[in-house]
Amino acid sequence: MKITFCCANTESGPWLQGLAAALPGADVSLWQPGAPQADYAVVWEPPQRFMDEQPGLEVLFNIGAGVDALLPLRLPRAARVVRLDDAGMAVQMAEYVCHAVIRHFRALDACAADTRAGRWDCHGPRQRSDFPVGVMGLGVLGARVAQALAHFEFPVNGWSLSPKALAGVRSFSGAGALDAFLACSRVLVNLLPLTPATQAILHRGTLSRLLPGAYVINAARGAHLVDEDLLALIDSGHVAGATLDVFRTEPLPADHAFRTHPAITATPHIAARTLREESIAQIARKIAALQRGESVAGMLDPAQGY
Ligand code: NAP
Repeated sequence: MKITFCCANTESGPWLQGLAAALPGADVSLWQPGAPQADYAVVWEPPQRFMDEQPGLEVLFNIGAGVDALLPLRLPRAARVVRLDDAGMAVQMAEYVCHAVIRHFRALDACAADTRAGRWDCHGPRQRSDFPVGVMGLGVLGARVAQALAHFEFPVNGWSLSPKALAGVRSFSGAGALDAFLACSRVLVNLLPLTPATQAILHRGTLSRLLPGAYVINAARGAHLVDEDLLALIDSGHVAGATLDVFRTEPLPADHAFRTHPAITATPHIAARTLREESIAQIARKIAALQRGESVAGMLDPAQGY
């Protein structure tokens, strides 16, 4: 069995050693142009040339939750794409989103600024019932985030394609339910995959439907958000602020308004990182299952794009 590794911006050595240790007998190597044909590939944002030179690949393991970077490529005809499911990312995303929601809800930034300025003021208390949180996307990450928010007793709404039954989460499903979902959410958390149906879904029209004084958290993909519409709604006062981890251009350009806007917290795409050891163990388990002829979770549905 031959496994080729082609991951942008990733230190390859530890991955190659880890994969070789987890899959004894497999021939694991770093892809370079002209490399021999492999059976399986471990990829992150590979170039089209990689696909063109590996027409016999059976399975591509994408070492991240989002497969949007693969979708514009011409993939080997028989290749299936398998995403990592969770691999330690869901708990990180829950930390990130709960932190952002609670920091806003408890006015922690204002408290810290007051203290620095020599004041000793109390803000609030605010009512949780006034801060319903809407989570867009209830997949591997969104479901975990929604349940973590419910644990903190926020009212939680969730929006997905198919209906969900998650404890403490009111389910809205399908395009027809989007307006109703937005209309009863004050904090909006985006954890959708980037597909043709979700591209630029956070725009003036959708964000305007949120309850006034809305707060926006985008931890999915930068192309979900129309940047200028968010800025205009913050200026108008309808949106109080945002926490953004993902951007249309990364790194976020030095002169982008999100860098310095006082109502925006921007982080450099760190909400949920791929954890190497857990990912390698998962890839090894999935390869073993595929070799036994079993199906595995996380298989990309090319028609849906996620
Ligand atoms: P996932 O498991 O594929 O879940 C996608 C969810 O979105 C599902 O609940 C799905 O509904 C729903 N959905 C898809 N298309 C929809 C549509 N058109 N309308 C309504 N709902 C729709 O995704 P994930 O692994 O949780 O990842 C979520 C996002 O996080 C991705 O964009 C990924 O790239 C991003 N991400 C960011 C970071 C970071 O560090 N910032 C790290 C990892 C991942 P069904 O359940 O009905 O199918």
